[in-house]
Amino acid sequence: MAGLCVRSVLVTGANRGLGLGFVQHFLKMPNPPQWIFAGCRDPKGQRAQELQNLASKHPNIIIIPLEVANPTSIKAAAAKVGEHLGGSGLNLLINNAGMAKPKMLDDETLEDMTEVYTTNTIGPLLMGQAFLPLLKKAAQGSPGSGLSCSKAAIVNMSSYAGSIEDVYVWEFGQVVSYRCSKAALNMLTKCQSLAYKEHGILCVTFHPGWVQTDMGGGGSFKPPLTVDDSVQGMLKVLSSISEKDTGTFLDWEGKILPW
Ligand code: NDP
Repeated sequence: MAGLCVRSVLVTGANRGLGLGFVQHFLKMPNPPQWIFAGCRDPKGQRAQELQNLASKHPNIIIIPLEVANPTSIKAAAAKVGEHLGGSGLNLLINNAGMAKPKMLDDETLEDMTEVYTTNTIGPLLMGQAFLPLLKKAAQGSPGSGLSCSKAAIVNMSSYAGSIEDVYVWEFGQVVSYRCSKAALNMLTKCQSLAYKEHGILCVTFHPGWVQTDMGGGGSFKPPLTVDDSVQGMLKVLSSISEKDTGTFLDWEGKILPW
């Protein structure tokens, strides 16, 4: 992972699944970040136990209370991260937190569509806005021209299920609210890439693969990928992408996916 060298990273939904996997992999890097901000909506809860244990052994993990569907929580998190960073910026924002409701098209409701869209799409939008000053600061403080994830980047965790061209694994589940939220997240990423390029911030949207997590393993099939394989793959991709890749939809192996 020689190519990815970040002083600070924030991962949302860092208490389990892929988010926790990111935290574990950042710790194992030859040059671990000085600050690994682990966003978690219920830091004292049972589901945060593993993250708490990890943080008690590694002082560079800072658990940040963060509910991505709540603008007040996002603003408080940005303030807290800013305090820890002192004068420096945030290199990498990984908008990983997400949710799915296993519904068929005919059963979708206003409430479910709204909740899933708020978490999966509006959350990353508000996170990008709130953390923009810190990301800008990181970009300004990094030497060299061009964009890179070591400098300043937003990584949005999307899904191939949001691809309009391919409508991945339709036969396994319609999950319409989830698909719509991720298709919209892909568009958001494209918009962020266009707007934030002048600030030196790279923006990409990722399909992590079909992964063995609570979300990925919810059905009757065992997903093919482990959290380790998926996260390792994504970090390798992040270490190699540059300005030409901003605004793209990539999978964990670096393949460009159809919108
Ligand atoms: P999990 O269900 O295992 O974990 C989801 C994480 O998101 C948890 O930490 C959860 O916190 C957090 N979260 C959910 N809603 C909120 C919220 N409103 N505010 C803050 N945190 C929240 O999912 P995965 O690890 O599998 O998924 C991670 C990302 O990858 C998601 O965006 C998902 O859509 C995407 N993805 C996953 C795939 C897979 O096969 N696993 C495939 C394609 C995409 P809590 O513990 O408090 O609920």
